[in-house]
Amino acid sequence: MVSLPPGSEPRHPFARIALAIPVPELFDYRVPIELAEAVVPGARVRVPFGRGVRIGYCIERSAEQRYEKLKEIEAVVDDAPLLEPDLLNLVKWTADYYLCSVGEVIEAAVPKGVRDGKKRSIRWVKLSSSSTSTATSESPVPTDRGPGSAQRQKILRVLEKMGGALPLSELLELASSGESSVKTLERRGRLEILRAPPPEFGGLPSASPSTSELSAWRTPPPYELTPEQQAAVSTIESEITRSHFSTLLLEGVTGSGKTEVYLHAIRTALSLGKGALVLLPEISLTPQTVERFRERLGDVAVLHSLLTPTERSMHYGRLRRREIRVAIGARSAIFAPIPELGLIVVDECHEESYKQENSPRYHARDLSVVRASQLEIPVILGSATPSLESLENVARGRFIGLKLPNRVTGQQRATVEIVDRRTESADDGPPPLLGPKLLLRLREVIDRDEQALLFLNRRGFARRIHCPRCGYHLECPDCDIALTYHKRSDRSLCHYCGSIRPVPESCPDCAFPGVRRTLAGTERIEETLAKLFPELPIGRLDRDTATSAGRMEEILAKFRRGETRILIGTQMIAKGHDIPGVTLVGVIDADVALGLPDFRAAERTAQILCQVAGRAGRGDRPGRVVIQTRQPEHYALQAAQLQDLELLREREAPLRKLLMYPPYGYLSRILCEDASDQRSLQTAEDLRTRLDQKRAGTVKVLGPAPAPLSKLRGRYRYHILLKARDRAALHRTASRVAWAKARWSSTKVIVDIDPTSLM
Ligand code: ADP
Ligand code: ZN
Repeated sequence: MVSLPPGSEPRHPFARIALAIPVPELFDYRVPIELAEAVVPGARVRVPFGRGVRIGYCIERSAEQRYEKLKEIEAVVDDAPLLEPDLLNLVKWTADYYLCSVGEVIEAAVPKGVRDGKKRSIRWVKLSSSSTSTATSESPVPTDRGPGSAQRQKILRVLEKMGGALPLSELLELASSGESSVKTLERRGRLEILRAPPPEFGGLPSASPSTSELSAWRTPPPYELTPEQQAAVSTIESEITRSHFSTLLLEGVTGSGKTEVYLHAIRTALSLGKGALVLLPEISLTPQTVERFRERLGDVAVLHSLLTPTERSMHYGRLRRREIRVAIGARSAIFAPIPELGLIVVDECHEESYKQENSPRYHARDLSVVRASQLEIPVILGSATPSLESLENVARGRFIGLKLPNRVTGQQRATVEIVDRRTESADDGPPPLLGPKLLLRLREVIDRDEQALLFLNRRGFARRIHCPRCGYHLECPDCDIALTYHKRSDRSLCHYCGSIRPVPESCPDCAFPGVRRTLAGTERIEETLAKLFPELPIGRLDRDTATSAGRMEEILAKFRRGETRILIGTQMIAKGHDIPGVTLVGVIDADVALGLPDFRAAERTAQILCQVAGRAGRGDRPGRVVIQTRQPEHYALQAAQLQDLELLREREAPLRKLLMYPPYGYLSRILCEDASDQRSLQTAEDLRTRLDQKRAGTVKVLGPAPAPLSKLRGRYRYHILLKARDRAALHRTASRVAWAKARWSSTKVIVDIDPTSLM
């Protein structure tokens, strides 16, 4: 007899079912005899609910009848349970910790394409048999020399590598190709395009490569590890072999060889018959990254939000069928069903995009540590700029600290110069955008035929549109946020809700005719530079120019090829790829982020500055960084100058300890949103009263206060902050209001555990 997962006792006549609605309860149903074996934990079931029918998930079987009248489960949806026991455990933990329902977490964890189970047809591309016969030769298309032949050869190479068949969309992504090249190859009989539904949960229709075939083209590393990499790999490997839980923080600048360390560690896990999961921020999940992993590890599943539901469900299915054991993906991939998971890697673990900003508001980095501890396996957190929480965990000995202090190529770090804008300002006006020092460095770079990056974390032309006479300034009426002027479209734009308004000729308040546009954004820098250096090709990378992933790649590629010499951008440039020609990075205004009303403002400023500084001098020439600021003595800037976040931790620690902020305390936020200002405040005050009645003594309750973004998309926002040194006490207190919210007024109440944004 097969062993059944715990809680699946088939003799028990009842089952507790989770539904994807925001209430904490599980719902009890009677299990009919004919389904007694099939209703196991993790199984998807169809149940009557209210007047209709709903899909739910069996969480456990039970012998106890808690209610008198129970309805019966109608059917079990799939042949096998949707969630295996390890994932069900993680899902339950997530629901419990982030105060949302198990059903909600399941819906966030399992791709929609898998859940809705429909088998839509998709377009597949298959090598035709004539092509496969040449598969062993060096060049698969020896006779193809016409225009576009390189692209066509690439397509065939990718197809061959991937076992001869791929969904069309995936092929196009992997080969960075358009459809026309594939069509040409089809006309020439090199491949076939067919329409077919993916088999159960998706999967390759044919020519699915076996694991041994795949390992044949897993290429070994082309070089020896550096001694530092070797030391990190040895520590990690011994953790993997001992198969117990530990968290390793791998600290190393970009280019220090972290990815190489991950690849070694994953190969070790694979060689032991285990699987691995790699999380990356969405923005780093480029085709090149995926390609690098596939080249060295064989086929890997890819899970990110740009895939269609069918594609996701295909990757999901291949993992579940154990055809592959490595997945790389963004945040939600933390719930990927990796067979015999033996290692988790979280790259760029400081990235805030790991925190989901709607329910369930989980943090994938934190869940990776939870999943690792549940499975007793190691997890590697990698970053050039770890969060203070992670650094503190190393300091307390809870994480193992590993360091790669140098770039693999042995380049020196860039020299960082901090320029005090106050001393650079002209007597009668604001300091210039490009102060004398930055301008001097820029001219040097241009003279030497090198490249420069200019960073300003604000897009648009002017961040403030105001009347110099009465002080009136233009705001979005729905968001209470200053509108940003965009010159190209000659409109003002709200960066929160996206609403667009014309700019008035004269002040709407006092009719003064000289409305001003101040506080420069990236668009303005671009214009200024074009005037200063009319001959010089300049690029700009921000959300206005990079309207798609393809456009972003194009702008970066042009810069990489040297077709643009200066690239201006928002934080998008901080995470770009290696560009060897860059010898200067200019930070136009480091104070933008320092002034935000958030206790992490200094930390974030230091991190982003370290990251942009890391873009200078990647080639064989040394790099320089010029940071313009009005607060040169601020420790966040000093930390960036020395590229030393430990300094930041030392300076922040007393402050955060005093105020009980993480990592020296825990934080939860309760946010009320309502179209009526008064109702929103009323709800917040009622919640506060409730909290005061029930709170554990050690929990501090602050507020309600208007949130820094006090009105957003037409809704008024008030928040209450809960702070405590004791996580459990805080959690108990928060949970008391979390579930009251459903029965509250029309006000939307959001409970955010360990919030990353306090705006
Ligand atoms: P990170 O992930 O820290 O940015 P990577 O692992 O991507 O660093 O390494 C940066 C570059 O150096 C890559 O092109 C990689 O192929 C190369 N590299 C990594 N390790 C070594 C090594 N031991 N010897 C030579 N080159 C290496
Ligand atoms: Zn708005």
